[in-house]
Amino acid sequence: MALLKLVYSSRYSLDIGPHVFLTEKYRHVHARLTAEPHPNLDGVIEPVAATWDQLALVHSDEYLHKVRTRTLSSEEIAQLELPLTDGVVEGFRLMTGGTLTAARLALVDGLCGHIGGGFHHAFASHGEGFCLFNDVAVAIAAIRAEAALPRVAIIDLDVHQGNGTALICGRDESVFTCSMHDRHNYPAYKPQGSLDVGLLAGTGDGEYLQRLREALPRVLAHKPDLLFYLAGADPYEDDQLGHTKLTKAGLRDRDRLVLDAVLGAEVSLVIVLAGGYARQLTDTVDIHTATLEAALASGSGILRTSRL
Ligand SMILES: [Zn+2]
Repeated sequence: MALLKLVYSSRYSLDIGPHVFLTEKYRHVHARLTAEPHPNLDGVIEPVAATWDQLALVHSDEYLHKVRTRTLSSEEIAQLELPLTDGVVEGFRLMTGGTLTAARLALVDGLCGHIGGGFHHAFASHGEGFCLFNDVAVAIAAIRAEAALPRVAIIDLDVHQGNGTALICGRDESVFTCSMHDRHNYPAYKPQGSLDVGLLAGTGDGEYLQRLREALPRVLAHKPDLLFYLAGADPYEDDQLGHTKLTKAGLRDRDRLVLDAVLGAEVSLVIVLAGGYARQLTDTVDIHTATLEAALASGSGILRTSRL
């Protein structure tokens, strides 16, 4: 029986005051996944925080200086939509390190799940939309600083377009970015990725899954060595920040489609959670947990290639 690891830290629960981004969701997902021993779970790995040098592989020196010295302007903090506290800065360094840790494990084991990550609205020189650092872009750059990583793909199924990731990775033809998102939702500025699928408000399970079935072969045609899946919970029908109307069953089918497509390809897979803002926290936790449970159930099928 093949096994897989998850990456998580209890320090992902951040004190950001009253906020729609409930960071305690990570603690609840971890608790659900570890409440009973799972035959395919090979432990939960504590991440190491991304270093400032690793962050500088993607983010500008000026931006990082302002973050380190807590001197972002009030406009920049308003755009970030998070308080710039020590806890937030260190928490985001740790979550960025978590995605890097998960990516390294995926390259060895074939699959790894991060109970965190997916901060796709962070640009090189500014943060926005609850995203201080772009964890996926930093993970790609940090691995490439150490080893060969020829081709990468990103399947971003958060309900909001992955604007920061699209712009950061857009200059690099070896990285294929696919985002399926609300066409008329945040962010207003949607730089073109490799494949953007913009959905109309009210899109339900049937059309969503059909569009995903059409998109997945185009992503895999890139023949990535490493694939990041941003499994946002916010396409859910009762999400406060989304216009898409997926049911929980539809979201499980979405995860299954992604996992089955990857099962058929020679690619290492990293799953990160991204957004989720359901009116009831338990719904967000249900959706994120189901994603990683599907990965655990699929582990034995995926774990067959070692890339590094
Ligand atoms: Zn989102």
